[in-house]
Amino acid sequence: MSEEKFISDTQTVLKFIQTYCDCKHAQKKTKESLQIAYKNKNLLHVNFELCSTCKETFLYSVARLQECPHEEKPRCRNCPNPCYERSRWKELAKIMRFSGIKLGLIKLKKVFSFD
Ligand SMILES: [Zn+2]
Repeated sequence: MSEEKFISDTQTVLKFIQTYCDCKHAQKKTKESLQIAYKNKNLLHVNFELCSTCKETFLYSVARLQECPHEEKPRCRNCPNPCYERSRWKELAKIMRFSGIKLGLIKLKKVFSFD
């Protein structure tokens, strides 16, 4: 995928996970910042405040985006070679649904098409 797409997908995922963690795990969050690379190039710097579980979910999602073999990323549901493990997928789908409602957005459908 393009660098722009990678950046916007990463930021979208973070925004949703951050919203979920803010509401669900407010007591357990730690502030951190992270440099994220794509195709051996440092592309973006993100700041977040997540609990350890949500941080792991975020890092897992970033790793999947980094390894996505598709030039034009298909909707995950229609992907010929889905990269998420089932349990991770379920966890992320739960987060996306929660935060999607919270944020009043359906933009995420473009990325993951959960419904
Ligand atoms: Zn959390």
